[in-house]
Amino acid sequence: MASSARVDLDGNPIKAMTICMIGAGGFIGSHLCEKLMAETPHKVLAVDVYNDKIKHVLEPASLPWAGRIQFHRINIKNDSRLEGLIKMADLTINLAAICTPADYNTRPLDTIYSNFIDALPVVKYCSENNKRLIHFSTCEVYGKTIGSFLPKDSPLRQDPAYFILKEDASPCIFGSIEKQRWSYACAKQLIERLLRVPENGLEFTIVRPFNWIGPRMDFIPGIDGPSEGVPRVLACFSNNLLRGEPLKLVDGGQSQRTFVYIKDAIEAVLLMIENPARANGHIFNVGNPNNEVTVRQLAEMMTEVYSKVSGEPALEVPTIDVSSKEFYGEGYDDSDKRIPDMTIINTQLGWNPMTSLWDLLESTLTYQHRTYAEAIKKAISKPVAS
Ligand code: NAD
Ligand code: UDP
Repeated sequence: MASSARVDLDGNPIKAMTICMIGAGGFIGSHLCEKLMAETPHKVLAVDVYNDKIKHVLEPASLPWAGRIQFHRINIKNDSRLEGLIKMADLTINLAAICTPADYNTRPLDTIYSNFIDALPVVKYCSENNKRLIHFSTCEVYGKTIGSFLPKDSPLRQDPAYFILKEDASPCIFGSIEKQRWSYACAKQLIERLLRVPENGLEFTIVRPFNWIGPRMDFIPGIDGPSEGVPRVLACFSNNLLRGEPLKLVDGGQSQRTFVYIKDAIEAVLLMIENPARANGHIFNVGNPNNEVTVRQLAEMMTEVYSKVSGEPALEVPTIDVSSKEFYGEGYDDSDKRIPDMTIINTQLGWNPMTSLWDLLESTLTYQHRTYAEAIKKAISKPVAS
């Protein structure tokens, strides 16, 4: 519960602040709203076009934090109320984005607008009104690892110097312009570069999330999102498991990812919010280097965990291979491996993730089963209209 005795990492009392959170109705925003309401005295001006994922935080009016959170249904592309909200706040957090890979190659223009053009007024208003900004970028700005260009049998591929991703040292390596997959990474990179221009005089922090996963991520196609929609891998695999279908491995599922539990990652964001002197001017990797798997291993682990939490037997053939062209269409490409260097976030904020991949999948798939299993059963049993 909120208490006046809360202190920052340097022992100074933390003053209650007003936060303008853009994209508050999304996956990360919903967890951040929950955390800020339950554990801090801060106020939130929650901006989004949707609020389904934060309804439980906004209503009913009897909630202990009622009055500390207000929802503003605003599309930041074209709404003059945005500047007023940023002026009212001490801090702005920008989470708004198109950030599902299936969109990067099929809707590159929307992706570039959403991740660069639409973020520009937010930077401008913060800079003109001397307001602090925490901007959400992505680990995808690193693109591919240097090691991925070495011969397959090169021993250097095992050398961390060729794959660990460091905020202040690693290059950003994207595919060719034909590979529209990189439209997102490129737009995020450009906004990061803009934030760092000293002339902006901006107090900023950049967050690079490395595959944060947990409850409320994306949507389940045909249930709370379009039937033809392709969410990120956690929701794709959850959907397959809920429907009793094999999990689809894109190009053999050889790419590697490190997954961090959303609740661990939110702790890191709270440290940034409440320790401006330690967070301003920095770019932070936020991920869990200990939770690395190939996508194939993720599929196998999710199959095992889902069988445990649902009590249903696993399929005899739990995965099938699909080509990226078939799954995502032309212009898809992939990051081969993503392990965050943790030096900066350890030094500045003393943060480390706690939750193992097995544990975070167990709690997340328990949520997915509880939330969607009935609805999926009903959807499957509905007679198809002739
Ligand atoms: P999300 O899609 O769940 O949330 C984004 C929210 O922004 C949505 O609720 C959406 O409605 C809102 N939004 C988009 N455009 C808007 C507009 N024009 N006006 C108002 N609201 C708008 O995504 P998320 O996973 O919560 O990601 C949040 C941020 O973190 C994004 O910037 C994303 O690029 C970044 N990120 C997340 C991850 C991850 O692991 N989840 C990884 C890398 C980067
Ligand atoms: N992927 C897959 N099957 C799916 C969905 C995704 O094999 O049903 C792969 C995808 O090609 C990528 C990885 O899983 O290699 C992670 O994809 P995600 O959409 O979560 O986003 P990314 O980590 O690439 O940003």
